[in-house]
Amino acid sequence: MIFFGQGERVVPYGTPEKHECPKCGGERMFQPRLRYKFGHVYALFGWVYNKRYELACLECEHGWVLDKNTEEAKLDQLPIPKHLQYGLMTFLLAMVSIAIIGAGYGSFDLLP
Ligand SMILES: [Zn+2]
Repeated sequence: MIFFGQGERVVPYGTPEKHECPKCGGERMFQPRLRYKFGHVYALFGWVYNKRYELACLECEHGWVLDKNTEEAKLDQLPIPKHLQYGLMTFLLAMVSIAIIGAGYGSFDLLP
């Protein structure tokens, strides 16, 4: 039985900036943040999809979508846990390894 799950996270990064907010009016602090959705198997092996960088007003959440390439160039590393970034790849490699090992043992004749 394989257990799947999914979720969405919003991770603030960088330093807040002052901007004029068109919704609540006046100067407000805007926080750059990364919103992403993820799926996982057994809560360990994950994959990320629908990444979106946004700049959001800390008062009313109104904001803008930022350019992905520009924002990723500013970051040393993505604020996403490694098990979500590379988990599915690890899971598939483990399954393939188990299959290869299993096939290998099957082809040997064991001594009595
Ligand atoms: Zn606002």
